[in-house]
Amino acid sequence: MDTERIRHGLQERLASLDHELGELTAVPRDPAAAVSFGKRIGEGTTEAIDRLTKVGTAEQLAAMRADVVRALGKLDDGTYGLCDRCGALIAEERLEARPWSVLCVRCASLR
Ligand SMILES: [Zn+2]
Repeated sequence: MDTERIRHGLQERLASLDHELGELTAVPRDPAAAVSFGKRIGEGTTEAIDRLTKVGTAEQLAAMRADVVRALGKLDDGTYGLCDRCGALIAEERLEARPWSVLCVRCASLR
């Protein structure tokens, strides 16, 4: 296993996740943009929905970020490629598709 290549890929992924999260969670500079949800029909509502969508996306990104950080830690302690829950080998195709996988397919489906 080419751990240096994997580490590099994970670090790049971490940097881009941080960038995306930074943009998503940035506090709007215009106070009018922070409208309360449902008070006005129209622009404000669309914006509020847009913000809710962003919160959902940010949560997904944050969850992925936690996995990337964990996967980097696993590279350090030599358990990369092993499931965090049951200790089984994570399938190579899975690691290829999602190098930040820290659970095997079976355990991930139980999450
Ligand atoms: Zn497992």
